Amino acid sequence: MNSAGAPVIEVCGLTKRYPGVLAVDDVDLSVHAGQIYALLGLNGAGKTTLIRILLGMIAPTGGSARVLGAAVSAGQRSAWARTGYLVEAPAAYPELTVRENLHLYARLRRLQHPGQHVEDIIERLALTAYAARRARTLSMGNLQRLVLAKALIHSPDLLILDEPVNGLDPAGVVEIRALLTGLAREHGTTVLISSHLLAEVARLNGRIAILHQGRLLAEHDATSLDQHRHRHLHVCTRDDATAGRVLRDHGYHPEPGLLLADARALARPEEVAAILIEAGVPLTELRPVEEDLEAYFLRIVGADHA
Ligand code: ATP
Repeated sequence: MNSAGAPVIEVCGLTKRYPGVLAVDDVDLSVHAGQIYALLGLNGAGKTTLIRILLGMIAPTGGSARVLGAAVSAGQRSAWARTGYLVEAPAAYPELTVRENLHLYARLRRLQHPGQHVEDIIERLALTAYAARRARTLSMGNLQRLVLAKALIHSPDLLILDEPVNGLDPAGVVEIRALLTGLAREHGTTVLISSHLLAEVARLNGRIAILHQGRLLAEHDATSLDQHRHRHLHVCTRDDATAGRVLRDHGYHPEPGLLLADARALARPEEVAAILIEAGVPLTELRPVEEDLEAYFLRIVGADHA
């Protein structure tokens, strides 16, 4: 058992080098009990590699990691009994039904009363209508649900999910979000999730780590993310050239598109309006614009020209 207050996942200087690629580059992070922690990154950022190291599937080149109080090393599976995971493409026994697949996993997990666990998880993951269907006939989204059910069947303390909402329709994405936030809030389950779906990660309301080219570039909770987001006042007029000149004359610094990031413009937009009206420049709109997570992410990873 990990002692009270100790991180559920603790990663120090973790590095994984493949020939010609630094997949994980000196990453430090901690995930605490009951937290939802999202690894956010573009394709190839290193998310899956980091998760595979945490699950003991591959060995790091350097650094260390502890999961549920135990040091992680390749092939060392002591934390697995209390961990549920979904990594790699969703897979199930194609000729078995959903219910039969779950019975098999319940037995592999050596659960007492496996039938009860199976029926509970079928209901929680909205698989009731598909319980008697062979896995090979499931849609991608329902197969993903089945694999999630498998990860959750033993009520793990820690859930590690690599891109869990891939293949789900919008209703499925909402369901999984509710499931994860409910697990964290009501059962104290710790959730580590990787995703490239920025809006989805923002809605999980957990901690967000931005991973790019193997490096952890930034780490935020909802409050600190808010503080780092760029904000502008978007000034819309019928004569932008004159409006820009007038605003510069009054000490503002309009950016292309008549965006004002000056603190006093953001704090007192009515003054901007008054100045422009005074100068006879027709104002059609004055709108605060807040950088969303997607724009923030692209700026941080230096891809905002894309
Ligand atoms: P995706 O969202 O596409 O799954 P990811 O963030 O999970 O991306 P990884 O799969 O961890 O990224 O890959 C990180 C880098 O390591 C990539 O450049 C990838 O090509 C490389 N890589 C991953 N596994 C191997 C391997 N077994 N051998 C060589 N290079 C690898």
